[in-house]
Amino acid sequence: MQTIIIAGGKGTRLGLKDIPKPMVRMGDKPLLEYQIELAKKYGAEEIYILSGYLGNVTEEYFKDGSEFGIKIHHVIEPYPLGTAGCLKLIEDKLDDRFMVFYGDIVMDFDIDSFIEFDGKHNSMGMGTAIVHPNDHPYDSDLLQVDNNNRITKVIPKPHNNGEYYQNLVNAAVYIFSKEVLKFIEPDKAQDFGRDILPKIVQSGNLLFAYKTPEYIKDMGTKDRFEKVKNDLLTGKVAGLNKKNKRPCIFLDRDGVINKNMDTKPLMKDFELLEGVPEAIKKINESDYLSVIVTNQPMIAKGFVSVEEVENTHKKMETLLGEKGAYINAIYYCPHHPEKGFEGEIKELKTDCECRKPKPGMLLKAAKELNIDLEKSWMVGDSERDLLAGKNAMCKTVYVSDKISNHADYYAKNLNEAIDIILNKE
Ligand SMILES: [Zn+2]
Repeated sequence: MQTIIIAGGKGTRLGLKDIPKPMVRMGDKPLLEYQIELAKKYGAEEIYILSGYLGNVTEEYFKDGSEFGIKIHHVIEPYPLGTAGCLKLIEDKLDDRFMVFYGDIVMDFDIDSFIEFDGKHNSMGMGTAIVHPNDHPYDSDLLQVDNNNRITKVIPKPHNNGEYYQNLVNAAVYIFSKEVLKFIEPDKAQDFGRDILPKIVQSGNLLFAYKTPEYIKDMGTKDRFEKVKNDLLTGKVAGLNKKNKRPCIFLDRDGVINKNMDTKPLMKDFELLEGVPEAIKKINESDYLSVIVTNQPMIAKGFVSVEEVENTHKKMETLLGEKGAYINAIYYCPHHPEKGFEGEIKELKTDCECRKPKPGMLLKAAKELNIDLEKSWMVGDSERDLLAGKNAMCKTVYVSDKISNHADYYAKNLNEAIDIILNKE
């Protein structure tokens, strides 16, 4: 796929004086070279590098790309046009669909999988943006999505207005249809995140979000720079590519993450248990993914709506995010097998494959996130949770003072459970 790398950006905050930010050295080569190698690995044959400040340094290093085995075109903007405005400069060179990423981001991801996802939606949409949770959503640009992965809202920072949100941060990697150019004005500085995505969403055109736990991080400050550089050089960045399987800690929700709620579990009553953000933060800092799998039969029974459950999850993600913790994915089963409740929703009254103790949600997560189930764990406070874990080949931690044949370990609370798991490595 034709690839556009936006490689402007000063590196003043990193103390760079005579090179643009994407040319900062990471080991024996500039960051931008890793990105070109990544694009090449996934079949890109032609790259446009759009530079601004000190763009001549970039051009002199990469030239026409022949030394790097790929065709490179350089375009240097005459004045700052922003991440989107500069695309107008190559409007007549763009293919019908193209990928855009930024030169100052450290990343490795399965581009095939991203292109495949976009392909499934491209007859409907203007494009696809990569999103992921991070540990500081409260000061990040967020995208909100519906159950069909359609972007419904853009929430630019700052957004400390008490609103609950999904922790889905715009990772600034996109595939666009050429039609996106009609949303960009010529000769004017505009950014994708702040200007163009909101315009597309407001226009009613479809834009999709692709969620991934792969490594895609910017290196804004000097501290962050040292960290991402280390992650890149030690192979952590490449290791998190979705082509490699990852272990996961599956978490039950009610009674493990939050206080048990009554028969009508409303968002307003949702409260995190003590120590939970700290425990989840430990997962986030380990190699494990954190995934919630929860039975919510009250939906089928007609006691709460799907919307109420999803708003409850927004509240959970917001509260966790405020403490620097995040969940990689949330799966819930809305079904219930027994009929006979007043106001029940008939089509959800089925003997589904996802309701724990069946392993359906864990298996679905394993497929979508490429999880290594035999190296994964299920933490729960009921027999159903433990059985679901066992049925998916996972080890189990029982957060309970009861005894169970299906428990491998016991813990008083989530924090203790996570300590047990991390000490078994
Ligand atoms: Zn179900």
